[in-house]
Amino acid sequence: MARICMDQIEEVSEFLKGVQLEFRGMDWCGDAFPPPHHPGAVHFFFFLMLHDYGFWLGDDFGYVRPIYGTINGIEYKGSDLLTRALKKVYDTDWKNFLPHRLSVILHRGLRYEFFRDDKGPIPLFDFMQRLHTTRKYGSWFVFRKTLPDDILRRANEAKEPLRSFLEQIKKVPGYDQDPLEKRNMLLAMALANRPERFLRVADSRNWRPIIDYHLMRLALRVGLVELSRQEIAKNVQRAWVGDEAERDIRLKVCEALRMVMEKSGRSLMELDETMWMARKYCPEMSEPDCPRCIFNPVCEKLTERFQPVFRTTAY
Ligand code: SF4
Repeated sequence: MARICMDQIEEVSEFLKGVQLEFRGMDWCGDAFPPPHHPGAVHFFFFLMLHDYGFWLGDDFGYVRPIYGTINGIEYKGSDLLTRALKKVYDTDWKNFLPHRLSVILHRGLRYEFFRDDKGPIPLFDFMQRLHTTRKYGSWFVFRKTLPDDILRRANEAKEPLRSFLEQIKKVPGYDQDPLEKRNMLLAMALANRPERFLRVADSRNWRPIIDYHLMRLALRVGLVELSRQEIAKNVQRAWVGDEAERDIRLKVCEALRMVMEKSGRSLMELDETMWMARKYCPEMSEPDCPRCIFNPVCEKLTERFQPVFRTTAY
C-alpha cells in the first residue's frame, strides 16, 4: 500500500505558502482552442474532455512511451496533440461537434478526420471504445432533446453552480465512470476560466484535485506519497499494475494534494497550474531538469518513480 508522507506535505506546503508562483490562470484561448465568443466553443470543450485520456503506448511488460504526432508540420505530445487535431476539425466546421452529428458518427469519420495527424490516424489504444462512447454521448443529448448549454444554464442558476455542473455531467456517457471525476473537473475548469465564463463558479470549495498521470508522477517524485518496497520495484521498471494498486496510489495522491491545498492556502487553480507547468521539467522519457523546476528546493528527487502503469479512460 502507498503511504502519504506527512513531513513532506508540511514542507511542500510551507514552501508553496511563501514562494512566488508563476500563476497565469490559463484562459483556454489561443490558437489551440476556439476563439472567444465563438458559437461552438462549449461543444468543442465537451468533446475534447470526453477523449482526454490514454496518450501513451504500452507492451506486454508495461509502459513504452507517450504518443506524439504532427499537426501542420509541428510535433505535439499527448493531450496537446489531441487538442490540435480537434481544433483542425473545428476550424473546418464546428458543427461537427454537435451531439446529433456525433450520435451517428462513422468509424471512418472519427478515425480519419477527428483523431488524425498530418500522417494519418493517431494510434489511440482503444479506438472502438472511443467510437462507442462518442455515439452514446451524442445520443444521450439527442434522446433528451437537450444540449451541453442546458447543463450550463441549469448549473449557473443553481446556488452552487460547480456542484450542480458536476452532478449533471456525471450522468453523461463518457463522464460517468471515474470516481475522482478528473475529466469532469477539467471540463469545469476550462468552462469557468474561458473569457465567456460559461460556468460561473460561486462555490470554489467544490473544486477537487485533478489527478492524472502527470500529477501522480510528480507527487511520487516529490515524495508526497511513498510506495511500499514491492511497489517500488515494479514502479521503477514501469511495469503494469493492477486496478487495486492504481486506485490506492491515485486516492493517496488526491488526498495528499488536498492536504497541500489546505495547508498552503493555495487554490486548486494555483496548485494544478503549478504542477502542470512542473511536469515539463519532470517528463516521462528524459532526465528531469530540476534546476528549472519550482519544486527543486523541497523535492526529494525520487526521479526513477513513475506514474502507475494502468489502462483507464479516467486520465
Ligand atoms: S523536475 Fe526535479 S525537482 Fe521537479 S518534481 Fe521532478 S524531480 Fe522534483
